[in-house]
Amino acid sequence: MAAAADRPPKTPTKSTRLPVGLFAAQCEECFKWRLISTQEEYEGIRSKIIEEPFTCQRKTDTSCEDPPDIDYDTTRTWGIDKPNIPKTPEGFTRRLVLRKNFTKFDAYYVTPTGKTVRSSTEVLAFVEANPQYKDIALSNFSFAVPKIMEETVPESILKEGLNSSSAKRIKKTKNESAHTE
Ligand SMILES: [Zn+2]
Repeated sequence: MAAAADRPPKTPTKSTRLPVGLFAAQCEECFKWRLISTQEEYEGIRSKIIEEPFTCQRKTDTSCEDPPDIDYDTTRTWGIDKPNIPKTPEGFTRRLVLRKNFTKFDAYYVTPTGKTVRSSTEVLAFVEANPQYKDIALSNFSFAVPKIMEETVPESILKEGLNSSSAKRIKKTKNESAHTE
């Protein structure tokens, strides 16, 4: 199971996060990647991926003979999702975004009232404030995020990250030597 984010636009944007643009599942027989058209369907497959591994046949009119829908390559940044994340409770939406510096995915939920919750504590507070949702078990919310596949992170970003951290190191060393003097 994988979530992939498209490359950031060439022109800088104000947004600090990249939305996940597509969802894919890998066939356990032929290892081809199949696009899963809706997030709801993807979450359904993911919630039972260990008990019911994905195969091409689960997609309508698709078999292992067909060419892959998508290739695992560097045209996108890929994240490999954790298995068996519970399906999002009805009325809620689960969102996955990629930080613009490509270091991490973030998962959060949008509640039926449009509020964003980013941790189990926030879910609990929401349910307490909105008792009509108290029957939804907290275990239905998972903030587990996909593992970012470093080899699919754009090289320019990797370099940038390296430069800024070494720049900081140099600055720090300078300060330290100034201090000793
Ligand atoms: Zn297959």
